[in-house]
Amino acid sequence: METILFIAHTESDAALAKSACEAMTAAKELAAALGAPLLVGLIGERAQPAADALANCGAQRMLAVEGADFAQPRYATDAAAIAALCAAASATLIVAPGTSRMNRVLPGAAARLGGAADLHATKIEGASITRWYYRQRMEAVQSRQQRPWLIGVDPGTHPAWTGEAGAATIERVAADLSDAQRRTVVQGVQSPSSGAQTIRPEAKLLFVAGAGWTKKQADGQTHIDDAQSIILGFLNATQASLGGSKSIVDLSGEGQAVLPFMTHLNQVGQTGSTPRHPKGLSTCCHGEEPHVVGWRFINERRAISLDPNCGWAHGKADVLYVADAFEVMRAVNALLQ
Ligand SMILES: Cc1cc2nc3c(=O)[nH]c(=O)nc-3n(C[C@H](O)[C@H](O)[C@H](O)COP(=O)(O)OP(=O)(O)OC[C@H]3O[C@@H](n4cnc5c(N)ncnc54)[C@H](O)[C@@H]3O)c2cc1C
Repeated sequence: METILFIAHTESDAALAKSACEAMTAAKELAAALGAPLLVGLIGERAQPAADALANCGAQRMLAVEGADFAQPRYATDAAAIAALCAAASATLIVAPGTSRMNRVLPGAAARLGGAADLHATKIEGASITRWYYRQRMEAVQSRQQRPWLIGVDPGTHPAWTGEAGAATIERVAADLSDAQRRTVVQGVQSPSSGAQTIRPEAKLLFVAGAGWTKKQADGQTHIDDAQSIILGFLNATQASLGGSKSIVDLSGEGQAVLPFMTHLNQVGQTGSTPRHPKGLSTCCHGEEPHVVGWRFINERRAISLDPNCGWAHGKADVLYVADAFEVMRAVNALLQ
């Protein structure tokens, strides 16, 4: 008989992140499919608010490793906490959100427990997981005999669990920190201000800009300033997430006129990211395979290109507008206002 343990770390406000609620959905589905008991294991400075939020998730026991040592992401203390929770729960299948904090520590925790870990699961069916390999080109279904098996679930692959909050009773578990080095201390976070942030994983729409925005247009001139104001106007009005083709993000390295807010972090594709948004709109981009492979998880795809024979036209977009993206997006921005 398997025992399912859902593990999550709390955030700085002691609440659970959306990715944790998504992993809870995966854990509940797994427990239901196997007819196995579900337990919860929380890690953080204070676990009670998160435990209360999960009070009606159907867990048989609510375990927590709490304290100031567990407030910050730190490999040594997180690994000790996970190992302690798994042992206290006698868990065989452990489901955790695939946050950077968890993905860093799950394999190490598995090694301590004599188990195995797999990250980037997109689906859990029975006691098998589905994940993608080779830059999302191959999908594999895999299972393991080894227990405990720790599974990191990719954010965005499951609906977030919601339920009535309540008053949860926590069993506190002590983690052995006797040989845990506490050399890593988070002293602060540096990130762009939210206005300058163009990568928005939660956005409903991915807006992709291709190199065409920086190319000479029908009048024989480039129109970088126009491109910039049109793109930023659209992003501000819709709060869409910004992606770019490799060609446009590489242009800065070649000393060409570029869009200053476009960086390599925006690149979508084989050597870039594979974002998950319900919809995507590509503009001034040819739609070549190494780019479009990054659209694997975009459900509805539209493109605006001058070229009626571009890659998008070859079955990669649901709708292709053969049109000047400067004109179309100006009109769209006017409508949005
Ligand atoms: C190993 C390898 C890995 C790669 N990895 C990636 C990757 O991860 N991501 C990626 O993006 N690429 C990747 N590439 C590159 C990829 O093959 C393409 O070269 C790149 O995506 C092309 O970018 P683009 O479509 O923006 O530019 P271009 O090919 O220059 O296309 C510009 C498009 O804009 C259109 N256009 C111009 N003006 C307008 C206008 N006013 N209105 C509408 N349309 C207009 C043109 O018709 C043209 O179709 C990779 C290549 C290799 C070999």
